[in-house]
Amino acid sequence: MSDNGRVSSPDPTTALHPRLPSPLQEIEDDRFARHGVRLLLKRDDLIHPRLIGNKWRKLVPNLSAAAGRSLLTFGGAYSNHLRATAAAGRLLGLSTVGVVRGQELADRPLNPSLARCAADGMRLHFVDRSTYRHKTDPATLATVLRAADAEGAYVVPEGGSNALAVRGCRELGAELRDRADVVAVACGTGGTLAGLAAGLAPDQRALGIPVLKGGFLGEEIRRLQESAFGGRRGHWDLDDRFHFGGYARTTPDLDAFADDFEDRHGLPVERLYVAKLLYGLVCLTEEGAFPRGTTLTAVITGSPLPA
Ligand SMILES: *Cc1c(COP(=O)(O)O)cnc(C)c1O
Repeated sequence: MSDNGRVSSPDPTTALHPRLPSPLQEIEDDRFARHGVRLLLKRDDLIHPRLIGNKWRKLVPNLSAAAGRSLLTFGGAYSNHLRATAAAGRLLGLSTVGVVRGQELADRPLNPSLARCAADGMRLHFVDRSTYRHKTDPATLATVLRAADAEGAYVVPEGGSNALAVRGCRELGAELRDRADVVAVACGTGGTLAGLAAGLAPDQRALGIPVLKGGFLGEEIRRLQESAFGGRRGHWDLDDRFHFGGYARTTPDLDAFADDFEDRHGLPVERLYVAKLLYGLVCLTEEGAFPRGTTLTAVITGSPLPA
């Protein structure tokens, strides 16, 4: 019981038995070894079977802050963040509302990602693209909350990146202190990189591989660090060359690379983010971006949608 007499909601960290710190694995891969680079995988995909990877680190502080209120958040039709939020809701007995980009999706059968959200009890509310684009505008947000019958809900932004989430990801960096020279991660909103960089030691560097086209992410990461920590933290930079045309875009070359990586290492490669990260790291290594003797860690932020 909390001091105001209400039953306090369970601390999600203990209730869900996460595997933390997540495992750190060295793998043998000649494409790195011949350049004198050691490759480690930081297996955040193993933190929890349903609340996977960086979504765990970003959501848990928000679940605590929601304190039992229903959770409303935003995502596209294939959003890993929506799936993680829905799973968290089911596991913790919180009601969740997913605001989905694309009014037209309301009239179609749900794709496997949204079907999983619905199966976990998430109420889906579809909005047109213009409304979705303006969702951070207070008047638009109020209209969406009313239309979704979710006034009073705890609102988590698209991709889950707010100050609490960024502070949650600082722990990822802290787990890797003195374990690597460079820590690389795929970026959507940049919240994970913002927190990771803040948690590393001063002689370590974080490298972000954006999966979206645009080139605006650096500014966004500075803004996220400002809101979470009051200023810029750690050493980080971005390499914008590996988005393959944008979010969820792929090429036969990238698909073949990911299939081959799975065969070589027995690692199921998540395709929206992790495949682009690993591809980028092989290219950078071949270009000589990492001096011989570098220990490079790739954060495995997620795993493929289970069949
Ligand atoms: C959401 C997600 C990311 C992106 O995280 P950001 O904090 O938005 O940059 C990276 N990898 C996977 C597998 C994800 O699901």
